[in-house]
Amino acid sequence: MNSINADLHCHSVVSDGTLTPEALAVRAHQNGVELWSLTDHDVIGGQQRAKTASKELGIRYLPGVEISVSSMGQTIHIVGIGIDPENAILIEGLRKTRDGRSERGQEMARQLEAVGIPGAYEGALKFAGNQELLSRTHFARFLVEKKVCSSTDAVFKNYLIEGKPGYVEHRWATLTESVDWIKAAGGAAVIAHPGRYRLTDLQKDELYKSFLLAGGLGIEVITGSHTPAQYEEYAKIAKQYDFYASRGSDFHDLNESYIDLGRLPLLPTNLKPIWSLF
Ligand code: AMP
Ligand code: MN
Ligand code: MN
Ligand code: MN
Repeated sequence: MNSINADLHCHSVVSDGTLTPEALAVRAHQNGVELWSLTDHDVIGGQQRAKTASKELGIRYLPGVEISVSSMGQTIHIVGIGIDPENAILIEGLRKTRDGRSERGQEMARQLEAVGIPGAYEGALKFAGNQELLSRTHFARFLVEKKVCSSTDAVFKNYLIEGKPGYVEHRWATLTESVDWIKAAGGAAVIAHPGRYRLTDLQKDELYKSFLLAGGLGIEVITGSHTPAQYEEYAKIAKQYDFYASRGSDFHDLNESYIDLGRLPLLPTNLKPIWSLF
């Protein structure tokens, strides 16, 4: 069960990835992924496409989503695995969560203009295509196109983050809301890339306990965002809190992402895989 090549976290053009759901299915299949999940940010418009493409290729698929949450004074991402994309409660919750992204984008653009970078809103929109979701990633790609920064990585060091131009604080869903919506849609809630949050040990303990209390079930142990030392650290956390463990590349783009689909170490054998629930 642990030894299967499952990749339960990645993004398509429907949010801030650059491959279509169909192209992701093909790439996952080519890379030897046996079970995958498309987890676009706050949007499930790609689910049917991902499912249909997977069926044609003969690769197992679980519908997914990555919800933006405001908790502990920062943005936390909660992944929902095995959700029903037709569930009205989840659909409405995600719509609410996406609300305000356009206004936020306009304010981000005003800040960038103030430091001599005009046209960022229209520029970012172009990278977002006709999709429903405008993300900081689209602004980052615009800043690379304009040669303000050499890579999106460099953008997220000098712009669009707290204390730098183009950062706008935003209220996302609450932790409890995100878990409630995922549960309502029959899915399992998983804390995404826990190693990325700037929290003290005490705050982490608080986050894990309130997540479990809300009905959350899992935590990402093997993710493209973790170092090998963090694989071990979060394997221990999974044991300690009795979390189900997940594995996902968080793949967005061939050049921007560190880890390709399915190219991660396997889940440690002493952990309960989140996919054993489905
Ligand atoms: P948003 O939901 O609009 O705030 O955008 C968040 C997205 O920006 C994430 O999903 C990542 O794709 C990207 N992002 C955030 N921080 C970084 C970072 N340090 N390096 C690369 N990408 C980042
Ligand atoms: Mn992203
Ligand atoms: Mn994330
Ligand atoms: Mn992600």
